[in-house]
Amino acid sequence: MEDKAKFKTYKVVCPVCGKTMWTCKSIAMENGINAGIGDCPYCKAILYMSFNEENQEMDLKGVKK
Ligand SMILES: [Zn+2]
Repeated sequence: MEDKAKFKTYKVVCPVCGKTMWTCKSIAMENGINAGIGDCPYCKAILYMSFNEENQEMDLKGVKK
């Protein structure tokens, strides 16, 4: 059961191009640092992620390249 929680994925929508993708918590997030960075595989926008504990979902901010 623990393993399942560890690999839980979250559905996110790129705020720049609107495409849907799946992400999981980063190692930093698991350790209490609520910040992540990545890029959109579709439009290459830089995505800043933070986890919303209340809603159990990933909040995303996108910066267009
Ligand atoms: Zn995108």
